[in-house]
Amino acid sequence: MSYSSLTQIQTDIASGKLSVKQLVEGYLGRIDQNKNLNVFLEVFAQEALQKAIEVDNKLKSGKAGKLAGMVIGLKDNLCYKDHKVSASSKILEGFTSLYSATVVERLLKEDAIIIGRCNCDEFAMGSSNENSAFGNVLNPLDHTRVPGGSSGGAAAAVAADLCLATLGTDTGGSIRQPASLCGVVGLKPTYGRVSRYGAVAYASSFDQIGPITKNIEDAALIMEVMSGMDEYDSTLSTKPVPVYSKELRQDVSKIKVAYLKDCLEKDGLDPEIKKRTTEIIDKLKKAGHSVEPVEFPFLDYLVPVYYVLTTAEASSNLARYQGLNYGYRSKNATDMDSTFRKSRSEGFGKEVQRRIMLGTFVLSAGYYDAYYSKGQKVRRFLQNKTQEILNTCDFILLPATPGTAFKFGENTADPIKMYLEDIFTVQANITGMPAISLPMGKHSNGLPFGLQLIGRKFEESKMFAFSNYLLNKF
Ligand code: GLN
Repeated sequence: MSYSSLTQIQTDIASGKLSVKQLVEGYLGRIDQNKNLNVFLEVFAQEALQKAIEVDNKLKSGKAGKLAGMVIGLKDNLCYKDHKVSASSKILEGFTSLYSATVVERLLKEDAIIIGRCNCDEFAMGSSNENSAFGNVLNPLDHTRVPGGSSGGAAAAVAADLCLATLGTDTGGSIRQPASLCGVVGLKPTYGRVSRYGAVAYASSFDQIGPITKNIEDAALIMEVMSGMDEYDSTLSTKPVPVYSKELRQDVSKIKVAYLKDCLEKDGLDPEIKKRTTEIIDKLKKAGHSVEPVEFPFLDYLVPVYYVLTTAEASSNLARYQGLNYGYRSKNATDMDSTFRKSRSEGFGKEVQRRIMLGTFVLSAGYYDAYYSKGQKVRRFLQNKTQEILNTCDFILLPATPGTAFKFGENTADPIKMYLEDIFTVQANITGMPAISLPMGKHSNGLPFGLQLIGRKFEESKMFAFSNYLLNKF
């Protein structure tokens, strides 16, 4: 049993070939067989089976929601009431969510089944899942390689068919980069489209929750269910949420695409990824689309700005983990001060500590103007420049990642090298634009890679339609 879309599942259910219970049993079996991948930190087996029986009954009485038959995994930084959430960190040891994230509530309301929580980089900081306190996730396509990060477990879960879809979070590429490395679809929505309530915050002005799926239809469906206004997240747009799944077949014959020459010329871009991107550009031209090169000589600013601003926000967001209110408390603490210091030193992993220190530094008196304020100005500049490009076209086409999945340990000795993995993904987070990674490449080394579209704010509908066209025709 292997299903590649919800439509397929629902068709088999309708014809009596499959029940939701059998479906969940199938996924649980596969999860069991693939334990070595270390994808799930926890599987909600009994509960998922129970819910499956309920959904089967609802289907019989015609009362099921539109996600009936969708089995979903959650990145372990999304809260689900009465379930553990750890952000793959020791510091949240023993912590149980007191409420569900808005996205989780909305999915459950439409009868999605949540099957477990997926391993990730600690507090979503990383590009390889090697920063989890609970061990590496193996790339299902090559066990000697990383699945990407930080939503590495979530991408691997979909690629290994352990559930139909997962939710990840993307602050600088954490949905799109692992999707690219695992050969699945990953969307980072427009900032302000999806409620962040109940997502463990990393850098609040960059974070968005989004779907990882096998196809565009499922991503569209999940997005229409979870997007839109929520009284618990004041950054959300009041713009109405389109019925994305119904707009997939809109006309995309007049789509205008731009590509950044600077991206294709970037050192470190794998030649085969460059070749495939160029090939798609040529094919699009032949198919009658306008595809124009544009200048964007600012690539070298993207990663530094991202790391100055996100670490600043992280240092503030992570101040709440101090061993008093929740999670891990050092056994060696003797007073309040040592509780804070020792719990944080023992509870946070090295990369998280590095980022908290960096963020504290860029916000400190004397350096604030040189780093944080300057970073904000550069962010605004990059937003304006990106908007200027998108005023003349519908999408920017670029690779999602500079290479394919790398080996464990290959980038860990040099944080800068690891940070450069994010070179093509951070632009969308810095600017707030939606972006998607599409599994459109196969390297001669046998591994997949993604192609990326960055679109105009709140134009996910068009992005889904064009993505569908690209995946089907190219
Ligand atoms: N890889 C990036 C980082 O390490 C992105 C993380 C994310 O999007 N959460 O920060």
